[in-house]
Parts: sequence; structure tokens; C-alpha cells
Amino acid sequence: MNAQAVRGRFAPSPTGALHLGNLRTALLAWLFARKAGGSFVLRVEDLDIPRVRPHATSKMLDDLVWLGLDWDEGPGIGGPFGSYFQSARHAMYEAALAHLREQNLIYPCYCSRAKLHRLASAPQLGEDAPHYPGTCRNLTSEERRKRESAGERASLRFRAPETPIRFIDTISGEQFEPVADVVGDFVVQRSDGIIAYQLAVVVDDALMGISQVVRGADLLGSTARQLALYDAMGYPRPREYAHVPLLYDMSGERLAKRDASEGLEQVRNSGISSEHVLGALAASAGFWSVGMPATIHELLASFDVAQLRNTTYSLVV
Ligand code: GLU
Repeated sequence: MNAQAVRGRFAPSPTGALHLGNLRTALLAWLFARKAGGSFVLRVEDLDIPRVRPHATSKMLDDLVWLGLDWDEGPGIGGPFGSYFQSARHAMYEAALAHLREQNLIYPCYCSRAKLHRLASAPQLGEDAPHYPGTCRNLTSEERRKRESAGERASLRFRAPETPIRFIDTISGEQFEPVADVVGDFVVQRSDGIIAYQLAVVVDDALMGISQVVRGADLLGSTARQLALYDAMGYPRPREYAHVPLLYDMSGERLAKRDASEGLEQVRNSGISSEHVLGALAASAGFWSVGMPATIHELLASFDVAQLRNTTYSLVV
């Protein structure tokens, strides 16, 4: 692999149809990579089996193709760093856990989510991640044995580094996060055995040689945790992060996968062309005129990162 070549990616979770916001993120990730003359990898993040919806993967791929996005490695094509489905990459995550365990960087935690929410003394930092107070950080092996034999199931937590993480985001600028103070030790394997997103995404992006991570702004807050894992694993960090603005609906709400009406199915069924949708997606991000259809090649020719507005725009298809 050429160390300088840009390798971008899109990594959707098949938990429902891609809505127009997800599709706009996919389009932007594709444009970033292609504009840099780079390759584009598609990875299906289907680790959270209970949340995976039947046929969601094939629908997602079909919608991406319909829009004119292509990929050099991924489902249907394969590639040198497969599998491109997280559900088939378990051995790689286990190897990463073993590596972290050898360095004493992970430990079992027996706290339920409900208990942690009760314990949270700091102001809530988002529903899923109150600051972890370190309850199980220093349990003795005797205590751990007792909890195990009582049938308590443990998640695995990563010891957050004391040194703050710094990185530059192409869109939001310089970022600084003392992970230990903001979220504390965080989960890398859930108590039901499922590998946590934070670890899986790092292992995958690193082993797939991803150098450019373009994704939704909702994940900006995860990046410091992920970089802490890159450092602990000894992986080189991606060269570029760009967290692109999310798409909001007309009432200012963020689009969610549960809003089936925001998916592409309805749009496609109503006979609207892919050029019309592409033009609307690009216009909503500020780099195409409102109401003008566009081909993917036209968008690539006119795409300019500097024009990407970091604000909320509604989409009118
Ligand atoms: N699978 C994640 C999602 O669909 C995105 C992961 C990423 O881009 O890092 O929200």
C-alpha cells in the first residue's frame, strides 16, 4: 500500500435504511476521497447483531449505487483487507483485545448502565456516556473472581490516557479532549460480548489503511477515544478527520434512521431522478445551486471543501 495515497471510507450500520442525511455523508466522504485522487472503501458495520435489520445491507448498497457512488474495496468486490463486514472480523478484534490486555490497558467492569447513571455525579455528558467514575478500575483478582462466580457479566473497559488527545478536524478545526476527565475509562467490549463501536472502528480503519475519515459531526466526540486506542495499539493515526454537518429536517430535528419516510425508497418510488437527489444533497451542503440537478461527475468537478458550510440546512428534494 502506498503510504501517501489517500484511502477514504464510508462505514454504515445496517440498522435501517440510509436516510438522506446518511447518504449526504456518504456522498461527502466519496467526494473527499475522489477529489484527493484516493481510493474509497465501503465497510458494513454489522457488529451489533440485535440491531441489524434484514435486507438493510442490500438496500443500502443499492441506494449508494443508484446515486452513482462506487467503491474500490468492499461488499461485492472484496479486497486485500477483508472481510468488509464487521461481523466476520471477530478474530481481529480479539487480537486487539489481547494486545491491550497484555499492556494492562483493559479490565472487567461489572457496573450496569443503570448503576452508572445513578452514580453519575458530574453533569450528564450525553445519554450513553456519563463520566465513568472508575468503580471497577482497581478490583483485586479475588473480587473479580467472586463477581464472576456470582454469575455477573463484565464489560471490558479501556484505561483512558491522562494525557489529553489533540487533533485537527478539517471542518471544526483544532480539537482537544482530556479523555480521562471527559468520559473516563470506556467500554471496548460490552457485557453481552459484542465488541464496542469505538474499538471495532479503530481496528478496522487501521488494518484497512484508512488515512481519511469523513463522517457525521455526531461522531466528533468519539474521535479522541478512538485516537487513544490508536496510540495504545501502536497504529499510526489517520492523516485526516473531517466531521461533516448533519442534515436536519424542516423542523430542525436531526434525521434518524427510524424515520422511514426520510429514506430513499419513497423518493425513488416517486420517480425523482438520482441527479435531482444528488443536486439537492449538494445544495443542502452549500456547494451546488438549489434546484439544479447534478451528475456525480459534475459534483466531483465542482466540490470544494472550503465551501462546505458547517451549519444546518434543510433539504428540499
Ligand atoms: N457505523 C457508524 C454509523 O453508521 C459510523 C462509523 C464511522 O463512520 O466511524 O453511524
